[in-house]
Amino acid sequence: MATVPLQCTEPLATAVHQDARATMRKEIAPLVQELMRQTEVKYGYNIRRDDTGGFNCRYMASSKTSISNHAYGRAIDINWSTNPYQKTFRSDIPPNVVSLWIRHGFYWGGHYKNTHDTMHFEYVAPLKSAPAFLNSARRESGGTSPTPRRGRRSWRTGISGRRHPPP
Ligand SMILES: [Zn+2]
Repeated sequence: MATVPLQCTEPLATAVHQDARATMRKEIAPLVQELMRQTEVKYGYNIRRDDTGGFNCRYMASSKTSISNHAYGRAIDINWSTNPYQKTFRSDIPPNVVSLWIRHGFYWGGHYKNTHDTMHFEYVAPLKSAPAFLNSARRESGGTSPTPRRGRRSWRTGISGRRHPPP
């Protein structure tokens, strides 16, 4: 199988909650930011800055042909030091936090059959559904605010806006 070249041209934005941050595809960054906020504030699970991240232009672990969803900005790894990628399931992420992310368009790597990837949450719904998931997440937590527009203070475009040059 030929090696698939890594291009990583997706437009990105950075979701920020307190000191935690993750660079994601821009369409889902506001949703990720809201889920990070609820993970910490509503469910009391701290997202550590130093072992959390989103965008990463790379192949899947142990592959030279399958591009990681981190390269598309669709995946976030949360607290990898206590939620390792390994055969033996290990995670300190509370089930209600896993459920929160799953309800809003994400697949959890802890559900992979062979090697568990409990740090890993991957957006598997259509990108155009992200604003609806954001609204439903806000409704769930009692908020009534509408979907924020780009540039509003509630989320930043950060290193964002960053576009990679075409190949
Ligand atoms: Zn991951």
